[in-house]
Amino acid sequence: MRSFIATNALRTQGGFGLGLLSLSRRCSSTFQQAIAASLPRTTWTRDEISDIYNQPLMELASAAGSVHRRFHKPSAVQLCTLMNIKTGGCTEDCSYCAQSSRYSTGLEATKLSTVNSVLEAAKIAKENGSNRFCMGAAWRDMKGRKRGIKNIVEMIKGVRAMGMEACVTLGMLDKDQARQLKEAGLTAYNHNLDTSREHYSNIITTRSYDERLQTLENVREAGIHVCSGGILGLGEVPQTDHAGLIHTLATLPEHPESFPVNKLVPIKGTPMFGQEPVKLEDIVRCIATARLVMPATIIRLAAGRVTMPESEQMLCFMAGANAIFTGEKMLTTDCNGWDEDKVMFDRWGLEPLQTDASRITVEPSTTHHDHIVPEEYHDKKSGEQLQSYG
Ligand code: SF4
Repeated sequence: MRSFIATNALRTQGGFGLGLLSLSRRCSSTFQQAIAASLPRTTWTRDEISDIYNQPLMELASAAGSVHRRFHKPSAVQLCTLMNIKTGGCTEDCSYCAQSSRYSTGLEATKLSTVNSVLEAAKIAKENGSNRFCMGAAWRDMKGRKRGIKNIVEMIKGVRAMGMEACVTLGMLDKDQARQLKEAGLTAYNHNLDTSREHYSNIITTRSYDERLQTLENVREAGIHVCSGGILGLGEVPQTDHAGLIHTLATLPEHPESFPVNKLVPIKGTPMFGQEPVKLEDIVRCIATARLVMPATIIRLAAGRVTMPESEQMLCFMAGANAIFTGEKMLTTDCNGWDEDKVMFDRWGLEPLQTDASRITVEPSTTHHDHIVPEEYHDKKSGEQLQSYG
């Protein structure tokens, strides 16, 4: 890699002058630092993340793969199942969403599912190998939903009692609501930023980027793990908007424990229907960059995986993705089923990531790791694990 960069630098001396030479040196140094990291860092500049994102793709994916092997068990991929516990009728205007009441998508709104029906679905997910059960409700926020929260608390307790991680996505959350969910034993709260700050207002107008960040702060303060990522293919400019999304999340006071990468599933009736599909190379770049700048985070291949051939999914795993959603449905869209995923795992030598492994407790091994992850990092993460799972 070094020789490739050096060659490029020499070319720029002759052909493009010293400006590009120094840019190349700066890219090289940022990229090298990211590759050599032994701890997550939250001081990235937007330029540094752009530099990484725009590295030659083979170099980028390969470097991300090597960082992935240092921070995670490389063959382990977490199986998560997402259930829609309250469908449709949402007042927000997210322009990709079938559940917004503003668009005619043919989706019928439902009431909140019963606790029993949710726990029955969680049991089936566990029997099929999922160890994280996520529950999504199509709400703007939790204001005035006292009965809803009470039922969701019971769902969380029930899922946790089965020994699974529990994640919910319920819209915006205030500090008190976050505290109640934490007390119920919630593992993680999902609230995606969707895209970069710059592109955001082209996608959603009914709540601001800062309101989303406030929810993430409330979740973090309550001691719940943060799950936040994006949707690729919303008409964004990948080079700038993917880097912008990653930059916002990678410079939070702590990195999200979970970064879902969704590929837009265009829904007829929504403004996003007919969008040009995001290119595979942009998905891989996004995953690889996230892996390099948030090395300890679990990266989830989420909605839209069903449209990706197995070979494309493998590229994503090799570039650092290490979780998938599996089961019968993913909110309103189709999902690869457990049986199909079991066959894929067997074919590629993958194994389900166990909860213990998902919290970065993997020791550096002589086979997979060429750098030592410092002890204090393991100590810090095991402390978190005790708080969250103990
Ligand atoms: S993405 Fe969530 S908040 Fe936005 S319209 Fe859909 S259900 Fe509502």
